[in-house]
Amino acid sequence: MRRKLAAGNWKMNGLRANLGEIEALIAAHPAPECEVLICPPYTLVSAAADLVKGRIAIGGQNCHPQISGAYTGGISARMLKDAGASHVILGHSERRADRFESDELVHAKSTTAISEGLIAIICVGETERERDRGATLDVISSQLKGSLPLNASGASLVIAYEPIWAIGSGRTPTLEQIAEVHDFMRAEMVKKFGDDGEEIRLLYGGSVKPSNAADIFTVSNVDGALVGGASLLASDFGAIVAAL
Ligand code: PGA
Repeated sequence: MRRKLAAGNWKMNGLRANLGEIEALIAAHPAPECEVLICPPYTLVSAAADLVKGRIAIGGQNCHPQISGAYTGGISARMLKDAGASHVILGHSERRADRFESDELVHAKSTTAISEGLIAIICVGETERERDRGATLDVISSQLKGSLPLNASGASLVIAYEPIWAIGSGRTPTLEQIAEVHDFMRAEMVKKFGDDGEEIRLLYGGSVKPSNAADIFTVSNVDGALVGGASLLASDFGAIVAAL
């Protein structure tokens, strides 16, 4: 049975004062049915982990493919784990686009993250132009083939389907479109990992809000959400947690 996951991606938002939102979230939802994860910026990972004391999970938003070395500004999976993180988001479209992250790099990062004991959340998704020309499933298939680590087990891997045109735009695919991609991804996971592929959680991400979360969570093979903007406030994210 896959436990649902509500994952918040704070992106480059959050100062120490914002840790109060995490406290408020836990206070409002002390015993959620789903797993709850907040991925704050690097600077807050340690403080957030100390604050939550295991009541919810804390994750990073990226890591380096190497474990240590002369990589100025780099943060490794081992450092994230040491700081109290249990998860790491990898291959987010903002990093694929702005930082030129390739499938190969995401593959290398996720392989290291999993061998260091982190759960890797790998993001995939099509541009609007790719959807318009009917290439969505081809794009997802090739991103999955190129980015997925070989050392994953069902519990150590999460896939987030995030159509690029839906991120931060207020637009979402139809429930049928989400189902088509998620059913496809499930079949691909089973093809690649056998029975373990049934254990891999598949999140939807892109403009998930309190107003649309419950509908999205009815879709087959949607095991939770990766939430950006609506994860910053305890009130919004709490409503999404409650809908799962
Ligand atoms: P959004 O971002 O919820 O603000 O659309 C989602 C994401 O980029 O993970």
